[in-house]
Amino acid sequence: MTTEPTSRAGAGLLEIGAAWELVAAACAQPLPAEAVPLDAAAGRIAAEDARSAVDLPPFDRSAMDGYAVLAADTDPPRALVLAGELAAGDVAASELSPGSAIGITTGAALPEGADTVLRMEDARVDGDRVTPAGPVARGLHVRYRGEDVARGDVLAPAGRELGVHHVTALASAGVGEVAVRRRPVVHVLATGAELLELGAPPEPGRIHESNRLTLRLLAERAGAEVVVHPVVPDDPGATAAAVEAALAGDVLAVSGGVSVGPHDHVKPALQERGVDEVFWRVRLKPGKPLWFGRRDATLVFGLPGNPLSTVACFLLFVGPALRRLQGEAGAAPPFVPARLAVPARPADGRTTLLTARLVRGSDGVLEATPTEGQGSHLTGALAASDGFVAIPHDAGELPAGSRVDALLL
Ligand code: AMP
Ligand code: MG
Repeated sequence: MTTEPTSRAGAGLLEIGAAWELVAAACAQPLPAEAVPLDAAAGRIAAEDARSAVDLPPFDRSAMDGYAVLAADTDPPRALVLAGELAAGDVAASELSPGSAIGITTGAALPEGADTVLRMEDARVDGDRVTPAGPVARGLHVRYRGEDVARGDVLAPAGRELGVHHVTALASAGVGEVAVRRRPVVHVLATGAELLELGAPPEPGRIHESNRLTLRLLAERAGAEVVVHPVVPDDPGATAAAVEAALAGDVLAVSGGVSVGPHDHVKPALQERGVDEVFWRVRLKPGKPLWFGRRDATLVFGLPGNPLSTVACFLLFVGPALRRLQGEAGAAPPFVPARLAVPARPADGRTTLLTARLVRGSDGVLEATPTEGQGSHLTGALAASDGFVAIPHDAGELPAGSRVDALLL
C-alpha cells in the first residue's frame, strides 16, 4: 500500500484535540480568587456563586402611579377619602384605613393596610375624594417583596464570566463586591534578528514585527495582564537570558525560533532554563511547530513566528488556557459551527485552518468563503477574513454546504 505524500506531512504529529487536552491538564488548578468591587467585575470569571444580599423587590411596591387602596373598597366602587401621598423613597407614617386611599407613585412602598393599587387613569378625583371607575382585583399593580429574587439566590454562578446582565442583577441585589479569579500575567517575547519595531523605517532584509502586539491584544481580550519584552536577536545566550526574564508570570508566550532551522534557539533555551517539554508539533496548518511546556506553575507556549500561525495557536490553545486559569468552566478552543460556501480541502496531512469570510446566511448559520490566498505569512488575507475554518486532515475535499468548525477573530 502506498501512502499519499499529503498524509505523510501530518503523520506522527499530535492531533489538535490531544494537544488541547494536554494544555487543559496543565491548567487544572485555577489562579487564586480575589475580591473586586462590582464596578470592576464585568468580564471577570466568578470564583464563587455570587448571591443576592436582599429580597427583590425589597418591599411591596407600586407598579403604577395611582392610589393605594383596599380591593374590597372598590367592589362595589365607592368614594374614598384621600388620606395622603407617597412618592418613591417615602415610607408611610400611618396605615391605610378602610374607606380611604393614599396617592402613590411608581416604585413607592405600599403602605401597611393597602393590598392593591388603583391606577390614576382608573379613578375619578373630586377634591379629597377618589372614586374607582370599577372593581379592582386584589393585588393588582403591586410588585411583591421577593417575587423576583430571594436573599441568597445565586445571580452569577462560579466559573462563568460576569456579563453586564449579571452585574446589573448584582447591583440591584445590593452586592458591592464579588470574588473573581486573579487575572493571569502573560509575558510576551519575540525572537528574530530580522524584526523591526512598529512603524520603523523599512530596512533591507528586515520585516516589521507584529506578533507581540497581536499576542498582547489577544491575551488582554482573554482577561490577562500582559508584560511585553524587547525583541531578542537569534542568539543562544541572549535567548536564554530573555526567556529567564520572561518566566516571571503565569504564562510565557514566545514567538518564533521553535522550528528546526539553525537560528531557532528557543527550544534549547527553554530546556536550559528548566522548562519541561509537554509537546512539540501539532497536526495543524498553520501552527505545526507549536511547543508547549511548563516550569513549576508557569506555562510556556513557543509559537511559530509566522503571524497567522501565532494567531491560530493563540485562538486554539493560549486563549482557552488563559480562560481555564481564570476558572472558566469548560473553556475550550472556541469553535463555532459554519457551512462552506465553496468546496475546500486540507492543504496536506494536517488539519488546515483557512482564512475565510464568515457571513451569516438566511438561516443564521455562518457561511464560510476561504480567502483566495492561503499562507501563514499572509497578513493581508488575515485582514480580509473574519476568522478561520478548520478542514480536518482526513476530510479529503469537502463539498460546498459541508458543516465545518470556524474560529472567529
Ligand atoms: P520563525 O518561527 O522564527 O522561523 O519565523 C517564521 C516566520 O515568521 C519568518 O518569516 C519570520 O520572519 C516571521 N516572524 C517571526 N517572528 C515574527 C514576529 N514577531 N512578527 C512578524 N513576523 C515574524
Ligand atoms: Mg525566527
